[in-house]
Amino acid sequence: MKKYDLVIIGAGPAGLAAGLYAGRARLNTLIIEKQKNGGQIVITSEIENYPGCLDEETGPSLIDRMVKQTEKFGVDHVFDTVTDVELEGEEKVIKCLNGEYNAKAVIIAAGAHPVPIGCPGERELSGKGVSYCATCDAAFFEDFEVYVVGGGDSAVEEAMYLTKFARKVTIIHRRDELRAAKSIQEKAFANPKMNFMWDSVVEEIKGDGLVESMIVKNVKTGELTEIKADEEDGTFGIFVFIGFKPNSDLFDGKVQMDERKYIITDDDMKTDIPGVFAAGDIRKKSLRQVVTAAADGAIAAVQAGKYIEEHE
Ligand code: NAP
Repeated sequence: MKKYDLVIIGAGPAGLAAGLYAGRARLNTLIIEKQKNGGQIVITSEIENYPGCLDEETGPSLIDRMVKQTEKFGVDHVFDTVTDVELEGEEKVIKCLNGEYNAKAVIIAAGAHPVPIGCPGERELSGKGVSYCATCDAAFFEDFEVYVVGGGDSAVEEAMYLTKFARKVTIIHRRDELRAAKSIQEKAFANPKMNFMWDSVVEEIKGDGLVESMIVKNVKTGELTEIKADEEDGTFGIFVFIGFKPNSDLFDGKVQMDERKYIITDDDMKTDIPGVFAAGDIRKKSLRQVVTAAADGAIAAVQAGKYIEEHE
């Protein structure tokens, strides 16, 4: 079993920022990542809203530099899947498929994931017209047509936000009534740029490198309609908001969470377990963005350092 001062679970912006701060504080640190560094940000092809990022910046290019920065300060990285954690007590144990690690402190930065539609073409065209984040991608659809899938608060609020950019926004909802709060609905119905396709689900998304069309099914009549991009535009946006889930199953029953399974922390990113911190999208918070994830990571690492010092 390898021993570390700090183990960080997740190599998205929160985990990498935590790694950078921990490395600079000379903590012996390991970052464990399940699949691919970067988390959700690597599905975003361009980044406009992280301070300092200009046109040429992409999710992967930003993450590459973040990873290099942590390596420069001696942080270890491993690709492995965490299967179990023992967080109580002074020695934390992190069990993975290919190894086991001990740590004095743990930062949980495992992120969250949007619930996908699950239809053909969705995954292939993700970041190429299919998006799960209006704040991230709305500006790329300035004056284009945009479709929003879902009928809850997120879908309707994000659709309203998209009307500031797109020339037309159409909500595709599987029922004939929105789930969103009435106050939000009222604003949406009053907005001249908003349109609604009721009783409809997206069956397939098509396109060669960019979204070009989609097949929508009316669930009451079974009728299939192909919605094609305007010829001049060549493409349109599909924003999916049918729920969002934190990657917190592993920690359920071990750290305090809210009813939606987001981990509850204080302002110092401390969970209810001493020596266990949470940072980024997995945490209960009001804005889930790269910039807030990075800030969480920095705070969590500094606090983890203090915790380790106090317990030595
Ligand atoms: P949500 O409330 O669970 O709504 C999900 C929406 O997606 C529902 O309209 C649902 O349809 C639809 N949906 C689910 N699965 C689908 C599928 N497979 N295909 C097509 N449509 C599907 O999720 P959310 O909007 O992300 O909100 C999550 C929570 O955050 C809620 O408690 C919400 O109140 C809260 N929230 C609050 C605010 C705010 O207060 N300003 C903002 C955002 C979120 P049905 O309606 O038919 O089930």
